[in-house]
Amino acid sequence: MATITLRPGRERPVIQRHPWVFSGAIDAVHGEPADGEAVDILAPTGDWLARGLWSSTSQIRARLCAWDPNQVLDEEWLRERIARAVSGRAGLANGEDGACRLVFSEADGLPGLIVDRYGVYLVIQILTQGMEARRAEVLRALVDLLAPRSIFERSDNDMREKEGLPPCGGLLWGAEPPDQIALLPAIAVGTSVVPPRLLADLRTGQKTGFYLDQSHNRVRVAAYCQGAHVLDCFAYSGGFSAYAARAGAASLTLIDTSLPALDLARQNLALNDIATPADYVEGNVFKVLRGYRAEGRRFDVIILDPPKFANTQAQVNHAARGYKDINWLAMQLLNPGGVLATFSCSGQISPDLFQKIVFGASVDAGRDVQIIERLGQSPDHPILLTFPESEYLKGFVCRVW
Ligand code: SAH
Repeated sequence: MATITLRPGRERPVIQRHPWVFSGAIDAVHGEPADGEAVDILAPTGDWLARGLWSSTSQIRARLCAWDPNQVLDEEWLRERIARAVSGRAGLANGEDGACRLVFSEADGLPGLIVDRYGVYLVIQILTQGMEARRAEVLRALVDLLAPRSIFERSDNDMREKEGLPPCGGLLWGAEPPDQIALLPAIAVGTSVVPPRLLADLRTGQKTGFYLDQSHNRVRVAAYCQGAHVLDCFAYSGGFSAYAARAGAASLTLIDTSLPALDLARQNLALNDIATPADYVEGNVFKVLRGYRAEGRRFDVIILDPPKFANTQAQVNHAARGYKDINWLAMQLLNPGGVLATFSCSGQISPDLFQKIVFGASVDAGRDVQIIERLGQSPDHPILLTFPESEYLKGFVCRVW
């Protein structure tokens, strides 16, 4: 097996089980590892530290998977890791129409592998050289462990590009899945809301077809929606709106730039026999909210669930301005005592920084704003303590006076 010797002073994160070894931390590569092959990571002293999967094409040259020298990264290891991840979701999304994330990449010790369960269908992403090289093994393990009706690939996000891999997608195993399936996303046991069924668009929808990471937060936010005029900004398929309606919202206004997304939202409300008056607005939230302010419109609950504004550290300042702007606008559109549910899914924006941004917006809006709940990604998207990068979604439910 090829070995990688680290530069002096660069061993600490590896010892502390952070799973990434960047090119700049490497002193020497001994041997000629092929992409995806297992490599051993050595301290400058020559001491064995960890084992990972090699990628010559990424700035992250090795993704670490084992800190026990006896652990071989073979098919059995992969199978055990997948089984462990699946067992960690026990009780979430059971039954023929449950939906949840089963494997969350590094956070489940499987760098570059995402597996989402949409009922009897699996949608997967293979995002690193290490997983690309194990494609056949991944499929075998998933078929054996989960017996899905089909496995569909949606490896079309920008991570593959950073790994030097072309986008990849389509049916990998079993029967062609339907274009859309109605599902019950995983939510905490014991919640009082009767969950609506929501459509996932596996082939062409955003992400792997649905935003599973917000499943719990839709329930939390619905708790404030009884009798409320609700503004659902960045609505996508209307997940927040469907829950708000179930909780007794008086009206719904959904904004998204994507017409297919709004169509899906309309279908979702119809599917659940929701008769709440709903307005579907195709437009840019930054502009539409300014228009509402000029018209003097007011709402009782506003949800801000924008896409990732910052992909890199260099984009953080610009992203912060964007977050501040929409939060500032939303605060001005709320009736006194109204509720703002505001989210950021940019991993580069820490919960602390996000709180500072919302604070800045409140000062500029001249409104008293209280955080009444702190929210994060749903439990099927665990945060691995040794990999803080696995925390990306954060949100506040705020009371705005
Ligand atoms: N709230 C959704 C997920 C939102 S994802 C849910 O619960 O499932 C972000 C959405 O914002 C996408 O649907 C995207 O089309 C939309 N979007 C991106 N930029 C936008 C903008 N400037 N104005 C309105 N919508 C935007």
